[in-house]
Amino acid sequence: MLDLKALVRAIPDYPKKGILFRDITTLIEDPAGFRESVGRLAEAHRHMGITHVAGIEARGFIFGAGVAIALGVGFIPVRKKGKLPGETIGQNYALEYGVDTIEIHADVVGPGDKVLLVDDLIATGGTALAAVALLRRTGAEVSHSGFVIDLFDLGGAEKLRHVGVEVFKLIDFEGH
Ligand code: AMP
Repeated sequence: MLDLKALVRAIPDYPKKGILFRDITTLIEDPAGFRESVGRLAEAHRHMGITHVAGIEARGFIFGAGVAIALGVGFIPVRKKGKLPGETIGQNYALEYGVDTIEIHADVVGPGDKVLLVDDLIATGGTALAAVALLRRTGAEVSHSGFVIDLFDLGGAEKLRHVGVEVFKLIDFEGH
């Protein structure tokens, strides 16, 4: 197995002072690293009856699209407010300062569908929890999630488990 952790670059004080940004562009520039991270996220969720992969804008699209292709299912973009052309449903979530909204097309999934949520990184879990709540409002089942990186000290994965979502991750980093 590749050392995926070694392929993630750490950039101090980005986007603001005190944040250690875990940059996955170095991982996806590496052909073996990109293939293996997508492949492992997909294999962990094979034979589970997953019908769709939902990826969170924007880095969740990179990995989620690959996982959807590998699993042979469709891909759902979970987008920032105002980007989707059809009828949408939205979910607000709290940011450090203020509120943000994510949206999906209202008719993209429903009862009987089983959605795997994918993003590059889980930190406080605010974004992922909002995505789970949004997808579940359609009647779809969301009980599995996959992340490349878990900043476990920030507790997001624990919050997801608390609402009945299993968390599969490839890399753990302590701190924030
Ligand atoms: P959160 O809602 O706190 O779990 O934040 C998750 C989102 O913010 C993910 O989509 C990440 O891409 C991004 N993010 C948060 N913290 C970091 C970090 N230290 N390095 C890179 N991306 C981060």
